[in-house]
Amino acid sequence: MVTFKVAIVGAGPAGYFTAQALQNAQSDDKKFAIDMIERLPTPWGLVRSGVAPDHPKIKTVSKVFEKIATAGNFRLFGNVELGTNVQLVDLQAKYDAVIIATGSSVGRKLGIPGEELPGYLSAADFVPWYNAHPDYTGVDVPLDADTAIIIGAGNVAMDVARMLALEPSELDPTDTANHAIEELKKSNIRKVYICARRGAEHAAFTSPELRDLPKLEHTNVIMHKSDIAAAITAAGDAPEKDVKSNLDAMLAIAEQEKTNHARTMEFLFHHVPTEIKGAGKVQEVIFKTPSGEKVVKCGLVISAIGYEPAPLNGITYEKGKVLNADGRVKENVYVVGWAKRGPSGVIGTNKSDAAAVIDLLIADLKSPKAAGDINDLIGAHKVITQTHWEAINTAEVSLGEPLGKPRVKVADKSELLRLGGL
Ligand code: NAP
Repeated sequence: MVTFKVAIVGAGPAGYFTAQALQNAQSDDKKFAIDMIERLPTPWGLVRSGVAPDHPKIKTVSKVFEKIATAGNFRLFGNVELGTNVQLVDLQAKYDAVIIATGSSVGRKLGIPGEELPGYLSAADFVPWYNAHPDYTGVDVPLDADTAIIIGAGNVAMDVARMLALEPSELDPTDTANHAIEELKKSNIRKVYICARRGAEHAAFTSPELRDLPKLEHTNVIMHKSDIAAAITAAGDAPEKDVKSNLDAMLAIAEQEKTNHARTMEFLFHHVPTEIKGAGKVQEVIFKTPSGEKVVKCGLVISAIGYEPAPLNGITYEKGKVLNADGRVKENVYVVGWAKRGPSGVIGTNKSDAAAVIDLLIADLKSPKAAGDINDLIGAHKVITQTHWEAINTAEVSLGEPLGKPRVKVADKSELLRLGGL
């Protein structure tokens, strides 16, 4: 029996499903010792800092992650950053394989004038702000004007719009960051526009998310019937299944009885942003529309138009992805998840993606190295192990219990280390 040592960098869904694929590939003659390295003191990646807090069901996948983490051949090294506390070349020397699962955390740029103005944010900053990510607690989110514009027609745009258009007390029973609930309760925003540059037939929303919108109890959701009718015509007689399902859900929204809440979320299609303008801060967005130029006044613009990976030393990037061939990067280095295929797909997509990369990795394996492991590299640095993380997890859940929340997320790194017992 041989044991291969594998380091997975990044404790998000792609990282955990990769660990699971390795666990599933074990046999009587081949085992894996898995070390998962994560720069934050907390694991779970986007399940903790990306998924919208009003969609708690999606987060139940964390139970699967904890099962993988406690299966016996898995160690967590949280609070350890690749490039700072350990270097890729050193991991390559010690491990039989190193797998990059660091996702795509940087928001794509629109590339139009005005993106530098205060009041313009990327979803890549706003989402981790409301999800208590330690690096984003200081993001300035101006909520004083009555209108916000979201650019993009994907599920992230929809999450962001909902968070701004919900009655904020609806967030009380969720794990939204305390600082965000406080700010959102003071928000003057009453109108949120979601602006798509193309027609509804091209929207990247998925239909379960669209079908959830009419369930909002305190928000008018407006889609214009003429937009959806035009999209149905444009989609033709035999639209793809997903497109048809989306258009059915959108038509139902467009046809629903009007409500009269104080807060409104409105979808604008064929609105191409060309400039963000304002004197020292965002005041309006100029759009190109089929009927000409249109100006929409607002105090906040959030773009949700996709992500790029944050660069890692020793890794080559191309077109917003780690340069790779089906997950192979270079000598004993592999990549999975958004860093491999770009920022698309839901959490479950990572399962089949990881399994395919692990098949290739196993085909590449020779004989196991005997060169030590990460413990030889990190010295006295404070590491969050699975036991420390479980202490943090328990503490956060207990903080939430009396408040009727699934947990109160702690955003301060030193407080997280303290809760972990370090
Ligand atoms: P996405 O689904 O790729 O959507 C990006 C949107 O941005 C598209 O509508 C795109 O329009 C638009 N866009 C791109 N460049 C633009 C530009 N320069 N100007 C205006 N619009 C622009 O990306 P995402 O919303 O970031 O989501 C990423 C992935 O996570 C998706 O697979 C999504 O389904 C998933 N996700 C799932 C959930 C969930 O299941 N609840 C929640 C969040 C995210 P074009 O089509 O015209 O390029």
